[in-house]
Amino acid sequence: HSVDQILLDDLTGLPCSAQRRALAKIITLLESTRLDHRHRADEVLNALLPKTGKSFRLGISGVPGVGKSTLIETLGLYLIEQGHRVAVLAIDPSSSISGGSILGDKTRMERLSVLDGAFIRPSPSSGTLGGVAEKTREAMLVAEAAGFDVVIVETVGVGQSEIAVAGMTDMFLLMQLPNAGDDLQAIKKGVMEIADLIVINKVDIDADAAMRAQLFITSSLRLLGFQGNPDHASNDQKLWHPLVMTMSALQGNGVKELWEKIQQFKQLQTTNGKLQSRRQQQAGAWMWDRVDAGLKNAFRNNPAVQTLLPGFIAEVNQGTMAPSVAARRLLEAMGHEFF
Ligand code: GDP
Repeated sequence: HSVDQILLDDLTGLPCSAQRRALAKIITLLESTRLDHRHRADEVLNALLPKTGKSFRLGISGVPGVGKSTLIETLGLYLIEQGHRVAVLAIDPSSSISGGSILGDKTRMERLSVLDGAFIRPSPSSGTLGGVAEKTREAMLVAEAAGFDVVIVETVGVGQSEIAVAGMTDMFLLMQLPNAGDDLQAIKKGVMEIADLIVINKVDIDADAAMRAQLFITSSLRLLGFQGNPDHASNDQKLWHPLVMTMSALQGNGVKELWEKIQQFKQLQTTNGKLQSRRQQQAGAWMWDRVDAGLKNAFRNNPAVQTLLPGFIAEVNQGTMAPSVAARRLLEAMGHEFF
């Protein structure tokens, strides 16, 4: 497709307005639900694949109001000043449930969004969480091919979406408010365990509470078997141990230290091989995700399955057919043997 070749050339060319347009257009193509668009998108993705993978992928999560967009703007402005190019993508789980949006509107990150070194893309607005995550993973690759060397993927703290973000990034940063109720929530949901870095924000409001939260989370991480030691005073210097730090995203203090920690993480993970193995594992998991989703889709769209399904569901509900029997017969209706 010659149009797509022009888009690809613009995308991988020098940073300019044509590149930004190409980036936005390709992402729109990826998000399309039309089959012919999907085929074009697949071609484009494959063509740009050699140019991907060179960014640092940072996931950021936290409850609404914790300060995610404030932090991303502060960090983004700091990084662009240092010569980086920063892409910000979002996964909004609420869009797939309610059609609404927690992560919100275009007024976020006003100062960052006008800079040439920044690219901000809101969450795909429809589909299942898996679908939204899929589009975001692809958008990340496109941003990398355009030379963005820091890609931030943001999500709200509602469980599954955080797992999805941690599963597509090199580092997962969890933001917390300086109060203990919030900490307990994160521990209960199991999100604390997947965090590489925990940032307690709004230290400017209550420094004492922030310090108490830092101590509490650090000791909780120890109890969970992680060594949340800010100085890495661990036996195993080769492994990263989750850190807990405090900062004020609003005032910007702590942002330099935050970036230093992120750099330390990247350095260590590169040296010990974890960065590469994490990416390999993510790529494999991504492929199987798509296979699973594709199979499910084929199943639901299969005419024989569609004919049988209502009756089988009724029988399973009434208890006249075992769920496992119903499942096997439905699968076999697709024309394969299943065990
Ligand atoms: P998000 O929903 O996680 O993206 O949170 P926002 O970045 O929109 O921040 C929510 C509110 O908290 C806004 O009014 C911010 O100005 C404020 N805020 C964010 N970070 C800080 C901080 O470090 N200190 C203070 N005092 N307010 C902050």
